[in-house]
Amino acid sequence: MAENISVDVSRLDGGGPPEPAPRTRNTCPSCNSHYREDEMVANLRVCTNCGHHFPVTARERIVQLADEGSFTEIARSLHSDDPLEFADSKPYPERLRVAERTTGLRDAAIAGSCEIGGTATALVVLDFSFLGGSMGSVVGEKVARAADLAVEQRLPLVSVSASGGARMQEGVLALMQMAKTVSAVDELREAGRPFVSVLVHPTTGGVAASYAALGDLIIAEPGALLSFSGPRVVKQTTGEDLPDDFGLAESNFRHGHVDLIVPRPELRDAVARSLALLTGGQPYRPPVLVGDLDPVGALTRAMSGMRRRISDMNPFRNGDAGDD
Ligand SMILES: [Zn+2]
Repeated sequence: MAENISVDVSRLDGGGPPEPAPRTRNTCPSCNSHYREDEMVANLRVCTNCGHHFPVTARERIVQLADEGSFTEIARSLHSDDPLEFADSKPYPERLRVAERTTGLRDAAIAGSCEIGGTATALVVLDFSFLGGSMGSVVGEKVARAADLAVEQRLPLVSVSASGGARMQEGVLALMQMAKTVSAVDELREAGRPFVSVLVHPTTGGVAASYAALGDLIIAEPGALLSFSGPRVVKQTTGEDLPDDFGLAESNFRHGHVDLIVPRPELRDAVARSLALLTGGQPYRPPVLVGDLDPVGALTRAMSGMRRRISDMNPFRNGDAGDD
């Protein structure tokens, strides 16, 4: 018994090196800070020590963005077939079943309508935890239906994208979703409905190269990788050294591909204010931007360009209520 006590005391005195806390999905990969699940939810899954943005599921994203109790899902029962009878190391239907079980979703997107800051909007959110947020026929259809809903009900459209690209298991049918979603966004534009595209880590491949790049306003979370191919592939292909921030949101902002970089705690506010402005709601006040950018100047430029585009494409700008 005495032996047992002495072992316990030496541990309490810090006689040995402290055991590192086990790494979990709530351990920050940048600074090793560790959070309980309730802290993660309260912090919107942003590290309060270093600002690292953890992944967010589609459901949680909707909770973060939509006004309480306002979200109604559409096209919930859509489910992917296996048209190519595709099998790599596992058959595609088996991959789908595992993804369904682990995420509770039927595919990598949730679409519907909601209010954000009091403005009614169509919303489609991709979920990276379902087969890497890949866009197959179901994701493409949900994006298109959200755009259709916006046209039918004269709403703006908000999309939140996180995707590895087209779903290879659906081959050319997945690639066709690029054309389909672009066409849906085009119809939205012709109907004069605004489109706010939010890009989060990572948005790549066929999603980065289709509808997600076509927002009237494109907002990114800080540090997100937003590029058609990842830096490793580009480096291998071109044989050139790439800048450290290649493909990141900040680099995309400098090159004009992203209009605003908004940290997640400000995101709901930024989307709400943008929607209010674009639909003729209350006056817009700028959100906080990260980094050493010129926030007010950048914002003013982005918003004035956007107002011009919206007014050009709005068929009812002379006060004609159109075919409502
Ligand atoms: Zn951190």
